[in-house]
Amino acid sequence: MSVDALAVLIRERRPSVVLTGAGVSTESGIPDFRSATGIWADVDPFEVASIQAFRRDPARVWGFYRERIDLLRAAEPNAAHVALAELERRGFVRAVVTQNIDTLHSRAGSSDVVEVHGSIRSAECLSCLWVEPAEAVLEQLDESAVPACPRCGGALKPGVVLFGEVLPAAAMERATQLAREAQLVVVVGSSLEVWPVAGLPLEARAFAIVNRGPTALDGQALLKVDAGAGETLAAVLDALS
Ligand SMILES: [Zn+2]
Repeated sequence: MSVDALAVLIRERRPSVVLTGAGVSTESGIPDFRSATGIWADVDPFEVASIQAFRRDPARVWGFYRERIDLLRAAEPNAAHVALAELERRGFVRAVVTQNIDTLHSRAGSSDVVEVHGSIRSAECLSCLWVEPAEAVLEQLDESAVPACPRCGGALKPGVVLFGEVLPAAAMERATQLAREAQLVVVVGSSLEVWPVAGLPLEARAFAIVNRGPTALDGQALLKVDAGAGETLAAVLDALS
């Protein structure tokens, strides 16, 4: 029932802006962060994924990200990514704003993707702002624990937003603008705990949520579907066909 209601909202208020979080990628075998089986249940993010840790011990941070990058590059888009790409092609979705760094939306065919937490497709130099593609970074990591900037020799940092860093300004500005212009923001697979991204739905006229389990904004949503991302979005796509 609620899936049909969501399809109606998406049809009436098209094009929507979709905001995705880790729950969209768990069906691709990518663990989330905050659940009992999530990544941060085993390791302390401030030891391996903070800007302070990177400045103190970049080799340790790269050790963690090397493994993450290998896992994410081996993952495949799932039914949720595929459905969102198709919804965009059919004019129901304007853009996807994602907290995910795995690039699976782009790989599934979504063309307008705003990556507000960065991505694994590149690394960057904190000294001269050089951006180095992942392939070259991974080659360097076979030889040394910390990849070096080809322009200035400084340590390259993973192209993802680390704890203690501000979000990329241009991406956040675009995401905020998209949310403000939308008649509907559809939140998928995010418990809306990480700010400032969690505040984006509040910028829109209205928002709906697809997430297994409660989120911080359930009480303010037009509609909540408590179910997995893949099955729900595939059913929405069916209902709109
Ligand atoms: Zn540099």
